[in-house]
Amino acid sequence: MNVNRLLRKNIRQLSAYVAKEIPCRVKLDANESPYEFPSFLQSIDDIKTNRYPDPEARILKREAARRWKTGARNILLGNGSDEIIYYLITTFGGPVLYPTPTFSMYGIIAKAIGEKTIGIPLDRDFDLSLDAMLRAVKREKPKLIFLSTPNNPTGNCFSSERILKLIDRTKGLVVIDEAYYPFSSRKGMLPLLRDYKNALFMRTLSKIGFASLRVGFLIAHEEIIEAVNRVRLPFNVNALSQRIAIQVFKNYREIDRTIKAICRERDRVFRELSSIESIEVFPSEANFILFRVRNAPAIHKKLLKKGVLIRDMSSQVRDSLRVTIGTPEENDIFLEKIAEVLQ
Ligand code: PMP
Repeated sequence: MNVNRLLRKNIRQLSAYVAKEIPCRVKLDANESPYEFPSFLQSIDDIKTNRYPDPEARILKREAARRWKTGARNILLGNGSDEIIYYLITTFGGPVLYPTPTFSMYGIIAKAIGEKTIGIPLDRDFDLSLDAMLRAVKREKPKLIFLSTPNNPTGNCFSSERILKLIDRTKGLVVIDEAYYPFSSRKGMLPLLRDYKNALFMRTLSKIGFASLRVGFLIAHEEIIEAVNRVRLPFNVNALSQRIAIQVFKNYREIDRTIKAICRERDRVFRELSSIESIEVFPSEANFILFRVRNAPAIHKKLLKKGVLIRDMSSQVRDSLRVTIGTPEENDIFLEKIAEVLQ
């Protein structure tokens, strides 16, 4: 039997998303938080293993809605926001439009589902190329536009006016992926929800200390939530994750302290990297920093040999590496090792 011949055509050309576990001393490659919250695990000791979780995750939605000043009926949960991207493209289809470079899963999932993708390069400041995007909207009539703001991997927020113009001029949906908004000075665009039915928002617990839970949020008009709910798997967020996620919202001040610490460290790492002559650093509103350096892939390898794992982004942005902000100690090690490697 030839499995390859049985595959749908669009799957034949795909390869699996590689999230390799590379052993290292300091792990700064995946935009995770360096801070753990072991005390939150205490809340799960009375969970019944034999019962399915609440399919509607009612308590978790209520807590999230309270924090974000929206309605519980405006929220749909995903097994990470990755799953929400999957659900959105399954529900509405393509073409799927996004700026490049950006988070790779928009394109990977659209292709897996067999939908057309359109990538429009960002401008020189890594902002949206509005005219080019508007032309693509007119020509291709995308059902979905994905905007990661702050953008992964460039770290900047897109201009709000440009985002608004896109929302205004498309007949499709604009998904504003706010995975990194907790680290941004702008604090998110969620209030747009009131005036625009086609503005959708994604948020996640993955960047603020809970990547292992896999909890992502779609926040949108009720009609959109109702539509996406038709394709959502019934028990997609497990009971342990729901319970811990409720604790996250109930104890947000604790999380907030770590977010502030990460932002302070980001600004320090930015200053320190900027003082190295052979590096060009891009300003960041996220929990990572993109920088340009000659021979980026070689520098990446040399850093790993010294125990520091960061991300080689040179296939997306010329000569660039992305470092996630860690604890002050981890950042010190990174700064020390990169200085050594560049000598
Ligand atoms: N959106 C962006 C912009 C991301 O960078 C990531 C994670 N790298 C995600 C979404 C996915 O987050 P989650 O862990 O919630 O699936």
